Amino acid sequence: MKSNIVVQKYGGTSIGDVEKLKLIAKKIVEKKLEGFSPVVVVSAMGKTTDELIEMSEKVTFSQTQPDLREKDTLLSTGELVSATLLAMSIKSLNQEVISLSGSQAGIFTDQIHGSARISDINTKRILKEIDQNKILIIAGFQGVNTQGDITTLGRGGSDTTAVALAVALNATVCEIYTDVKGIYTTDPRIVSQARKIDFINYEDMLEMAVLGAKMHPRSIELASVYNVPIYIAGTFSETKGTLIVKGENMENNKTVTGIAIDKNVSKITIKKIKNDPGTAGSILKPLSDQSISIDIIVQNIPINGFIDFSFSISDHDIQRAYDILMGQENLDFEDIIKGSGFAKISLVGTGMQNAPGYATEMFNALGEENINIEMITTSEIRITCLINEKDVNSAVNALHSKFELDKE
Ligand code: ASP
Ligand code: MG
Repeated sequence: MKSNIVVQKYGGTSIGDVEKLKLIAKKIVEKKLEGFSPVVVVSAMGKTTDELIEMSEKVTFSQTQPDLREKDTLLSTGELVSATLLAMSIKSLNQEVISLSGSQAGIFTDQIHGSARISDINTKRILKEIDQNKILIIAGFQGVNTQGDITTLGRGGSDTTAVALAVALNATVCEIYTDVKGIYTTDPRIVSQARKIDFINYEDMLEMAVLGAKMHPRSIELASVYNVPIYIAGTFSETKGTLIVKGENMENNKTVTGIAIDKNVSKITIKKIKNDPGTAGSILKPLSDQSISIDIIVQNIPINGFIDFSFSISDHDIQRAYDILMGQENLDFEDIIKGSGFAKISLVGTGMQNAPGYATEMFNALGEENINIEMITTSEIRITCLINEKDVNSAVNALHSKFELDKE
């Protein structure tokens, strides 16, 4: 049987209220009437997940973190609400439909509550329902572990549910419907000239997703491994969205694809620490032991055997990291300075791999705007600068026009 399965995912804002859910129900039925078998993944409605998290934190005594097993089951209910309501709405349009939880849909994960990874999908149930001509609505963001407990995939994880289902069901494309019209060269709220991109390759998209554009990075990784195209578009928009595909399918081959922005960045500097073999490791080990990841690292030239060691870290982790480092008795340093209010801006483009000079041009452009660069890091396809958050607007606007991203 030739697959006419189409996997679609609707994000939280697209189904923010009951009226929106009804509009989406109609869209899905239209797709069915066109001859497709829609397998639809939904997020929780609006801010439901945030509200559930807040409640879970309020219900515990003292500073105790909520139990992770219970929390996962709690959070999974958000997606169950939207899935069941959407199914009821579709049913009332006289269409055969069934909603399934992640567990009912056969989505198996590892044991890690709160950031579980999908290990396998048993498609038997889904295929049986499709065979009976039913539309499927599947609760995103969740699965079940081998103990039979419900797990969740981490914030934004419904994207990954959708791509994983597209892979398992051999769908030709995974359609992600959201509140933006596609992927832009940069944040259109910051640069009015920002342009919607028709095609982007997985590598560039991954960098954009990690550093700015909102998509669960694991979904892009998965799509790239199995070569499933992702189409991302506005839920209620008629304009064409962006297709995320393999490199060679790209329509245009611009060197720079876009500028990613990550605003919630802090910085820690450890002043005057002895520069011995193993120093960097002994600073970072206690942090990684607590699952705190750090990002750009700068270590300056030793003076009399001492160095300053700085790194960037997300705002979310800064206080914890600071406390942990301050509490390390075996670390001998003069002081630790922490600061917030930084942002990372990154020039992204697979085309930069074989084209030298982009870093220089970027630094010059920032210099001309009188913007100080605090830290720099590069990969083959990305150049990232840490700057003051107050400079983001002028920096990104300058770079966007410098690299002519407003032009096709
Ligand atoms: N509802 C979950 C969240 O808010 C998952 C998702 O939206 O993809 O993170
Ligand atoms: Mg999302």
